[in-house]
Amino acid sequence: MLSRGLKPKPYPSDRSIGWSFSTLNMFQNCQRQYYFDRVSPRWVSFPEGKLRELRAIKSLPILVGDAVHKTIADYFQTCLAGNEMLNNDFYSSGEEIFQHVLKTSITEEQRQLEQEAYKAKVEEATKKVSDMLHAFWGLDLRSEVADSLRLNPEKSFIDPSGVSQFYGEFRIGDFRGYAPPDLVYLKKNGHHEVISWKTGLHNVDGFLMQLAGQVLFCIYSFDLPPERLTAKVVNLSSLEGQPVELQGSSSTLERCLERMRREVAELVAKFDNPQMRVPKAMEEFSLAPTQNICTMCKFKSICEGPQ
Ligand code: SF4
Repeated sequence: MLSRGLKPKPYPSDRSIGWSFSTLNMFQNCQRQYYFDRVSPRWVSFPEGKLRELRAIKSLPILVGDAVHKTIADYFQTCLAGNEMLNNDFYSSGEEIFQHVLKTSITEEQRQLEQEAYKAKVEEATKKVSDMLHAFWGLDLRSEVADSLRLNPEKSFIDPSGVSQFYGEFRIGDFRGYAPPDLVYLKKNGHHEVISWKTGLHNVDGFLMQLAGQVLFCIYSFDLPPERLTAKVVNLSSLEGQPVELQGSSSTLERCLERMRREVAELVAKFDNPQMRVPKAMEEFSLAPTQNICTMCKFKSICEGPQ
């Protein structure tokens, strides 16, 4: 069940290849990594069980991001239900969530580092989670959003994080995209705002593309009017970073959509049958152009790339 609030459109099932930032970003960094990670195991000549094991491996920065996103979403769900949460409860909830994701995941760092070095990395990651949650709690935006959620729960939406695999899909004619926003709330001026929390390096171009996907989702799935829709990134690891903002009716959004269509066309060209997702041969998916992309790649053990 999705949380109460804005309702995403229920689209009929469709397996054709669409746009999502993480998928296209991986494809552009290393097509072979995309092949190992996203192509159906039935087409990859490697034992399926082992492939699935490799796919499940995460990295510490991903786990940090997951824990921070989940802690913030839980906090805003509490506000949406009309309840309060104290700062110390928020911080301890974040610590518990991070410990839980650590226990239930295998990371590339764990596989590559000696025990002591891994322990030091985990301590560093735990501090990062705590620093970002403190940064979040100090934001004026936090209380503004909390008040809006309590007043307008039906006009808001919080990412149900994994509860529904369909949340985040939008369609424009035959173009499919996937970009679930972290949060959508009603501002005092009557406009909706999309907030995208970030927890890593401040990648302005990548953030803008992700935000564009989320704005398109709000326009095409929630049916929110573009001229009354704004969006911004809040990077909790770099609050002073260059602002990344977008308006629903801007030409920048149009340009991002054109770029998405081009990126999907490049990906589709790697498939013999894009509708059924039947890929071309593995060799058609090129290796990473530089070795530094391979450093933390979970597919190193099965790849002939430049490691
Ligand atoms: S090891 Fe390097 S070339 Fe091979 S899949 Fe990973 S990133 Fe790509």
